[in-house]
Amino acid sequence: MNKPFIYIANWKLNVSYAQAQEFLTIQDNLVHTNKQIIVCPTFPLLPIMQQQLAEQIQLGAQNCSNFTKGSYTGEVDAQTLNAVGCAYCIVGHSERRTLFGETDEMITQKVALLIKNNITPIVCVGEQHKSTTVQTQEYLAQQLNKLNLDSYKQNSLIIAYEPSWAIGGGKLPDITDITTIIEWLQNYCADNQLIHTKIVYGGSVDEGNIVALKQIASLDGVIIGSASADFQKLINIVSL
Ligand code: PEP
Repeated sequence: MNKPFIYIANWKLNVSYAQAQEFLTIQDNLVHTNKQIIVCPTFPLLPIMQQQLAEQIQLGAQNCSNFTKGSYTGEVDAQTLNAVGCAYCIVGHSERRTLFGETDEMITQKVALLIKNNITPIVCVGEQHKSTTVQTQEYLAQQLNKLNLDSYKQNSLIIAYEPSWAIGGGKLPDITDITTIIEWLQNYCADNQLIHTKIVYGGSVDEGNIVALKQIASLDGVIIGSASADFQKLINIVSL
């Protein structure tokens, strides 16, 4: 059987407690053979989701602290995320980098803590502005080289290519450009012996472009942001 295509629903701050409960009533529509679904709600929703999620759907967090303990008001540590059932955690999302000042050093620390706590990091990288392919590759190499991913040759990782300019705005890059970058990322992983790393794409994924994205042979999956908060859209995307 082919490897399952991965769909990561990044709910951001778009799904309320009541909506998450509604999701639990329709979640069975997302379960398909050979498709892997990961849902990433806000922190307070994690325990209720963990208790009621279908066995075939996995739980992810949208962020974690780069600290383990201490006077860090508002932070949530990786060990607690593991305890409430998170198998995955997004780190380095462009919204965290630009709106909350997350640095490569912090992301490096977060990746290390997640791995230590048996959580697969979903590491987001991507250029800020529309650039040439070569510029994008240089930018991604710089971002990735700072994250010490070399240390995780034996671990599962997901690298999410998310061009910041394509997030939330309905501006999907050309499929040929996405293909070139995904292939480049696969080569980067091969060169660095990151043999358990998967590559996903995120940025304006919707019902209109998922079929074209799935044609990219080297792509392991997608992150769906805004569209994942509309459950009918999410069901449609996953079923296409
Ligand atoms: C995201 O923020 O991870 C994302 C993919 O967003 P959107 O689908 O809304 O562009």
